[in-house]
Amino acid sequence: MNSPLKNSLRLIREVVRQARAYHVADASGLIKLDAMENPYNLPDDLRRKLQEKLGAAELNRYPDPAAAALRKKLLQVMQVPESKSIVLGNGSDELIQMLAMAVADHNNSDICVMSFEPGFVMYKIIADFVGINYVGIPLNDDFSLDMPATRLAIAQLKPALIFIAYPNNPSANCYRELDIEEIISLAPSMVILDEAYHPFAQTSFMRRLTEFDNLLVMRTVSKLGLAGLRLGLLCGHPDIINEIDKIRLPYNINVLTQIAAGFMLDNVEILNQQAKSIREQRSRLLNAMRAIPGLEVFPSQANFILFRVLDNAKNNSANDVFESIKRSGVLIKNMRADSGLLRNCLRVTVGTAEENQAFLDALEKAVNS
Ligand SMILES: *Cc1c(COP(=O)(O)O)cnc(C)c1O
Repeated sequence: MNSPLKNSLRLIREVVRQARAYHVADASGLIKLDAMENPYNLPDDLRRKLQEKLGAAELNRYPDPAAAALRKKLLQVMQVPESKSIVLGNGSDELIQMLAMAVADHNNSDICVMSFEPGFVMYKIIADFVGINYVGIPLNDDFSLDMPATRLAIAQLKPALIFIAYPNNPSANCYRELDIEEIISLAPSMVILDEAYHPFAQTSFMRRLTEFDNLLVMRTVSKLGLAGLRLGLLCGHPDIINEIDKIRLPYNINVLTQIAAGFMLDNVEILNQQAKSIREQRSRLLNAMRAIPGLEVFPSQANFILFRVLDNAKNNSANDVFESIKRSGVLIKNMRADSGLLRNCLRVTVGTAEENQAFLDALEKAVNS
C-alpha cells in the first residue's frame, strides 16, 4: 500500500535521500580546535555595550530587508571598490546557494559548477542539492592549481561558476596570483574568490574587482570572530549582484545580526587585533609542530594548519593520533582519507596560547607513545 508517508519520502529527490546530514562533531568537555573559530571572546566592556544594543532591539518588527546601515559599514570596513555592489547572506554558505540557484536550469543539464579538490565541501553539497553538475579539479601534490587540467576543463565544460577558496580549506595555502588571473581571464562566466580566511592571509582580490567584470569576491565575518552571527557578503559588478539579490529571501539577515554585526564593525580594531594574535600563534604553532618527528606540516595562510602523520612515525595511523589527542582533551579535525592528497591528514585550528600548548602536548604524546 502506498501511504502518504511513503509517497512523501518517495517524492523527495534521490540526491537528498542518499545524502548524509552535515555532521558536526560533539565538542562538549573538549578544547575546541576543529572548526576554525576565533578562540577569543569579547572584552567585558564591549560585551555590556552590545547587550544594551541587543536589549533595545524591536523583535516584534521584521528586520530592514536591505540591511542598509549594515551594508554601508561592510562596504567601508571590507574596502569594497566604489563602483561595485554587495549582497548579504546568512553566512557565505547561503551566498553559495544563491549563486547555484541563479544558474541552475532544469532544461539544461550541461550547467556546471567547478572547483578544486581537496577543497571546501559546501560547493559540491549545494550543487548536488540544487541539481547542477559539480566538477572538482584535483590539485597538484603541493596543493597548487593544476593549470593544464584547469585550462582543459574550462574549455570543455564552460562552467557557469568557478569557486576558488583563497586561502583554500583544508590545505590552508593561497594559490599563485598569476594562476588565478589566468582562470578569471579564461572563464566564460563568474569566478568566485572565497576569501573566508582573509583576516589571516592579508592578500586579496578585492581591489582587483575593478579589473574583471566576471570576478566576485566573497567574504564572511565567521572566521574573523563572529561565526555565531551568520553573515557573509558577495561583492562584484552591480549588474550581477542585482540579479543574485533577487534570489535572496527578503529578511535573510535577522534583526539581532544586523545590530550585533553593525556594533562589532564599529569596533573592528578589536577583531583585527585578535586576528593578529592568531597569526602570531600560527607561526609559533607551525614551528613547534615542525620540530616533532614523524609529521609533515603544511604551510598556512589561514587560521588552521593541515598536517600529515607519516608512515614512518612510531604510531603510523592518523586515526590513532586523532583519537589519542581527543583522549587528552583536544578536539581537532580528522580528514579521514586513506589515499589521495589528504592521506593520513589532520587539521588543527589555531587557538589561544594555552589551547595550542595543550594541543602540542597532546600531539607529542600521541606521536611518541
Ligand atoms: C568556513 C568557510 C566558509 C564559511 O562561511 P560562513 O560564512 O560561516 O557560512 C566559507 N568558505 C570557506 C572556504 C570556509 O572554509
